Amino acid sequence: MCGNFSNRGIVPRYSFGWLALFLLLQGCSKEGTSLPPEQERTGARAAYAHTRAIVSLGPRPPGSAALNNTREYIASQLQVSGWETFSQPFTKSVLPIGKQVTFTNLIARHGGSTESQITVLLGAHIDSKYYPDRRFVGADDAASAVGVILELARRMSNDPEKASRVELVFFDGEEAFGQNISPQDGLYGSKHYAGNWRMSEKKPAAGIILDMVGHRNLSIRYPSDTPPFLEQALLKAARNADAEHRFKKALNPILDDHVPLNNAGIPTLDIIGDFSQFGWWHTEGDNLKRISPESLDISLRVASEILDDLLKE
Ligand SMILES: [Zn+2]
Repeated sequence: MCGNFSNRGIVPRYSFGWLALFLLLQGCSKEGTSLPPEQERTGARAAYAHTRAIVSLGPRPPGSAALNNTREYIASQLQVSGWETFSQPFTKSVLPIGKQVTFTNLIARHGGSTESQITVLLGAHIDSKYYPDRRFVGADDAASAVGVILELARRMSNDPEKASRVELVFFDGEEAFGQNISPQDGLYGSKHYAGNWRMSEKKPAAGIILDMVGHRNLSIRYPSDTPPFLEQALLKAARNADAEHRFKKALNPILDDHVPLNNAGIPTLDIIGDFSQFGWWHTEGDNLKRISPESLDISLRVASEILDDLLKE
C-alpha cells in the first residue's frame, strides 16, 4: 500500500489528532458522518456542518497551524467512513514573497484501493488566500467545496466497489500569494499532484473539481474549455436538480486546479462559482453567512449524479 504511494511522494497519514477529538466532542461531526438513514436527504446539513467546522479554525493560508488542523479534521472525518488518507508534502519557491514554502496535499482512497484502480478524481482546495491585513476565512473559497466532498465521501462509502475507484484530493496552495493566480503563482498543490499522475501508466478517466459551490443564490460559471463529455454530464445533472439556470458556461477558460490535471491528460471539470461577479470574493464577506444549505444541496445533487455517471462505465 505505502509502497504504491511512495513513488508519488506520498507518506501515510497520521491518525486522529487532538483537534479531531475536540471537534467530535463539540458535536461538529454529529451531522457529518452519523446521520440516521431517514435524514439521508438532508446531507446538505452535513456539508454545512463541515463548512462551519473548517471556517471555525480561522484563516488557513499555506504553512499555518489552521491549515494543519483543517487537514486533521478532513482526515478524521474520512477515516470514520473507511477512507485512508495520505499527505503529499513538497516545497516550492514562491516568487511574490521570495521564499521557499512547504505545501501539503491530502489524498484519500477507500478500502485499500491501488493507483491502477482509480478512474475518477474528486478535489477541492483547502488553503484560504493569505492576507496579512484581513481576516479572510474563505467559507465559500473553498471550505464549502470540502464540506460537499466530505458528504459525498460518506455516501460513496456505502458502495465500497465504487468508492475504491475514486481518489479524493485536497489541494494546498491553490491561491496566489500575489493578487491573482498566474502561470507563475498559485495552483501549487494541483501542479505538484498532476505532475505525479503525468508519469503514471494508467491515468484516471476524469476529474471533478469543486470551488465556491455553497454561496446563497448559487451561480456557477464553468470554464469555456470544459471537455464536452463532462459539460454534458454537468448540464444533465443540473437539469435533474431543477437548477439548470444556475450553471452557465464562461466566455473564457478559467485558471483553477483543473488546469494542471487537464494538462496532465486527465479531462477535468471545474464546477466553480461565478467569482468575478461576486462583490464578496476574496473579502471578509466570504464568511459563514454567505453559505446556504439550499445551495450546498444543489451542488451535492449535481456532483453526486456526475460521479455516478462517471463510475457507471
Ligand atoms: Zn480564491
